[in-house]
Amino acid sequence: MKSAPVPNNELERLHLLHELDILDTEPEPIFEKITLMVKQLFGVETVLISLIDSDRQWFKSKVGFNASETPREVSMCAHAIAQGSTMVINDTREDPRFIGNPLVTASGGIRFYAGAPIEIAPQTYIGTLCVIDSKPHVFTAQQQQWLETLAEWVKNELLGRFAMSNYEQERQVLAQGPVAAVVWQVEPEAHLIYVAENVERVLGYSETYLLDPEVRYETIVHSADRQELLKRMQAVLDGKQESLEIEYRVVTPSQDIRWVHHFARADRDHSGKIVRVRGYLHDSTKRKNLELSLQHANQSIAMALEAGNLATWEWYLFDQWVEVDHTWEELLGRDETYARNNKWAELIHPQDYQRVRSALQQHLKGKSERFESRFRLLHADGHYIWLHSIGKVIETNEQGLAQRMVGIHHDITSEVMNEQRRRQQEAVLSLVSSVQHEFLFVNDFSEVCDVALPKLMELTDSKAGLIGELPDNSRSRNMLWLHGLRILEDETKNSAYQKLIKQGLDVEVSGELALHVLVRGEPQLCPNPVQPEEAVFHPLELPELKNALILPLYFKQHVVGMLLLANSENGYQREQLATLKPMLNTLGTLMHIRRMDEERQFAVDELRRMATIDELTQIANRRVFIEAAEQRFVEQQRYDMPVSVAIIDLDHFKKVNDSFGHAAGDKVLKQFTDVAKEVLRDGDLLGRQGGEEFGILLPHADINQAMLAAERVRDAIEKTEFSWDGKVIPVSISIGVAQLMATDNDVDRWFARADKALYQAKSEGRNRCIAADEV
Ligand code: GH3
Ligand code: MG
Ligand code: MG
Repeated sequence: MKSAPVPNNELERLHLLHELDILDTEPEPIFEKITLMVKQLFGVETVLISLIDSDRQWFKSKVGFNASETPREVSMCAHAIAQGSTMVINDTREDPRFIGNPLVTASGGIRFYAGAPIEIAPQTYIGTLCVIDSKPHVFTAQQQQWLETLAEWVKNELLGRFAMSNYEQERQVLAQGPVAAVVWQVEPEAHLIYVAENVERVLGYSETYLLDPEVRYETIVHSADRQELLKRMQAVLDGKQESLEIEYRVVTPSQDIRWVHHFARADRDHSGKIVRVRGYLHDSTKRKNLELSLQHANQSIAMALEAGNLATWEWYLFDQWVEVDHTWEELLGRDETYARNNKWAELIHPQDYQRVRSALQQHLKGKSERFESRFRLLHADGHYIWLHSIGKVIETNEQGLAQRMVGIHHDITSEVMNEQRRRQQEAVLSLVSSVQHEFLFVNDFSEVCDVALPKLMELTDSKAGLIGELPDNSRSRNMLWLHGLRILEDETKNSAYQKLIKQGLDVEVSGELALHVLVRGEPQLCPNPVQPEEAVFHPLELPELKNALILPLYFKQHVVGMLLLANSENGYQREQLATLKPMLNTLGTLMHIRRMDEERQFAVDELRRMATIDELTQIANRRVFIEAAEQRFVEQQRYDMPVSVAIIDLDHFKKVNDSFGHAAGDKVLKQFTDVAKEVLRDGDLLGRQGGEEFGILLPHADINQAMLAAERVRDAIEKTEFSWDGKVIPVSISIGVAQLMATDNDVDRWFARADKALYQAKSEGRNRCIAADEV
């Protein structure tokens, strides 16, 4: 016994097989139907869809066979896939490869075997569709063709199943996501007709509960918010408002309060009437709580001021002298000179200066009860401290001019920083939900980045930013596909890059810092200037990075892209890493979903293409050809337009294969189609009937015109030189032509007359066209 050789693309082959995720799965109806049909068609005892794994063959479907797998060594299908074409063994006892094979020697063992490989990708065979019997059989060429066609069907089903499971995965990603979709039907009165399965995570109520016709949605809404929601919803239903965005509280079954961010939009039918309202719900409890704690923080600053622990100041306006009750050294690291000549005013942050000045003037002119302001003062170390200051004029001169002010001030630097952080956190969370809304509506990731990147830059005060995606198959992890790039200080460059990104821009990443992010997934906080060679994005010319945040985008544990923010006026802090995290995950997830969507679309297009086009010659396959003929048949009956068919068969084609090899034969078939297409009219359809047999459907052609066209093709082939390896291949064709007649009851009858004429052409010496008899 000889085991089959291992295909030379074995690793890739196994990879594809495992990718399909089909091994050891339950039987599925479609494959069961196929094997059963094959059994009936060929009248054999056993039919298998066999998949060749690294050390076994496993059967996705089997009739007439008990085991669900056997070792690979004894597998006949392993020979078929190694050979890469249909393998037929009429009697296994005469084949040295199977002498002593236990599957053959067993009582009632295998005598006859025919297996057509399943070619899942070019030259990659994962298994076979095979027929087996305990008696020797003769397998005709026609039967072989059938088996191959059915194997192709199995392949299409496998690919279709794979595309579906991708879709399923994507649905799961959305289902785990934080946004739940719901749909209201408008007629007869607004009621929910669909809720996504993740709705319970958002609202705390199950799908079944919400879809119960007895349950009105507004009953789960907090009574204080209910009227507002109903009012706004009514405005959408009345068409007064195209969409609504509202935040309200939901009381969960366990009486907890959840904040829900609700976005809804009306769907209209072609006449403009509103038929449905689609809603997207997002649990915004976390954000809302932050917002509330922010309000609370503001109050607590006020309370701290009231509670004492305050420093006081006195300002002698006439002498331009300020006294503070702790030293200037303590407050600002500076000496007493700043107390004099209003020199302290130079220390106010330029962005706060006007505000402080006008608040003071208002008060000095008697227009406000007291002076109050928050502002930054420059510490001698170079950083700013925040002061909250309140004061009042207590002495005026005879002219009514202010002489002396007293006040209190308070260092609120840490409160302000906390507040800023909370604000950022809140802004990031609301950006996350708006990015998700955007994606659900436009489903275009670049547009999502157009929204997200400027907002992220604004939030972090950055002057440059970049979002890029790692291509799916990027093993080296140093290429990025850019989705967004913004350089605020150089508008010309910025708009030039925007255009390039629209066309698709790939950049090559190098430099230790940048690669750290992409390869190890470690975020990089760079408070100091980044050396040019530490982060290179060839061919982009980024401005000098004075400081930067370089962050990985994640889907689950995998790095799928990168976000770069740079040149912040206030620098970047470690806390921002945590603040931005939800955004990094969101962008990563959306990238992943988009990728899935593309893969699915590709698989669907490919399946559609494969279903209509013959792989070798790239012309219509038999199914499409017959369908077109059937359509013409109907038209002819209705409009009485002439239509003809020509059936072509290559002469002595077996000899071409035998003398020059199968590849040469394939080349001849391709060249034949090229020549035939050239001499045919635009409206004529050339299709492959199978093997070396072709058809031409000739609309508006009677038998005479059709014979002329057929003769043109025959003549062109006769004059074309076919060659292989420098040797000339003799090629000619025989053609049978038939015009559709009133006596042809169906397409089969019509084609049968053309076939008969073809047969006659063969028997009269080949290389000729014969017109069919009219019966
Ligand atoms: P005739 O003139 O009577 O038609 O002789 P023939 O040799 O062409 O007749 P037959 O139908 O017996 O042989 C057809 C051959 O075409 C057999 C098969 O191996 C070969 N063939 C069928 N499909 C393909 C193909 O896709 N590529 C190649 N290279 N050969 C094919
Ligand atoms: Mg033939
Ligand atoms: Mg032939």
